[in-house]
Amino acid sequence: MITLRERMDIFSGHRKPSFQLPKRDVWIEKTLLHMGYPDLDHIRAEIKAMVSDISFSVEKETAPLFLFQSEPLESCTENGFYMHGFHIKSQKWGKISSRLEGRKFVCCFALTLGARSEEMIIEINEQSLMYGYIWDALCSTLTEYYVDQAEEWIALQYMKKGLSVTRRFSPGYCDLDLLQAQKAIFNFCNPESIGIRISASGLMIPRKSITGLILAAEKVPLRSPCNSCNRDCKHRRIS
Ligand code: SF4
Repeated sequence: MITLRERMDIFSGHRKPSFQLPKRDVWIEKTLLHMGYPDLDHIRAEIKAMVSDISFSVEKETAPLFLFQSEPLESCTENGFYMHGFHIKSQKWGKISSRLEGRKFVCCFALTLGARSEEMIIEINEQSLMYGYIWDALCSTLTEYYVDQAEEWIALQYMKKGLSVTRRFSPGYCDLDLLQAQKAIFNFCNPESIGIRISASGLMIPRKSITGLILAAEKVPLRSPCNSCNRDCKHRRIS
């Protein structure tokens, strides 16, 4: 039984993590791998220097915007779960949700590097496609760092309420339909309020934006469906 006070208190929506930039050398290395270099040993020094220089302008020009909303899960089935009147269709996450025990919640979140990240990609591409490519890659890895921090922070908020969490999952990944899940999330937590729009196909603008879901409950027997999945998938979770 969830009281109104608990529903309002479990997450107010006004708090947020204090996002930290990654260590610069780690950020640069991750970006170089993201750009397709197979290893870090054979990259020319001038490329590394260029990535480092551009990382300072990414730091200066962008800042993460974040929001989230938590509500009780309405119901769970083997084919998905219901939240806020929407059915999230997913056999893989439906099985995870069906095994949750006790009080159950769903958190939707959205994070973006903001409109400037998008404007700068266009501006820099006009000067140099190489610079634009590096800018884009630095923004992608930075967005991933920030969303990892957001996931940890959300888990901590639930933990303070005696709840455990699943890993995060996003529209278009695993077996979640991009457009259907994206519409549900936009209806649930209003990412437009931090400047994120979706196109007719479900892609987000600014592109350096991530939306996702996390399930929470008193008992979470499985944090992701990856252990029992045989697909060759680069998004496999190890915990
Ligand atoms: S390995 Fe990939 S497809 Fe399989 S459950 Fe994990 S995220 Fe989903």
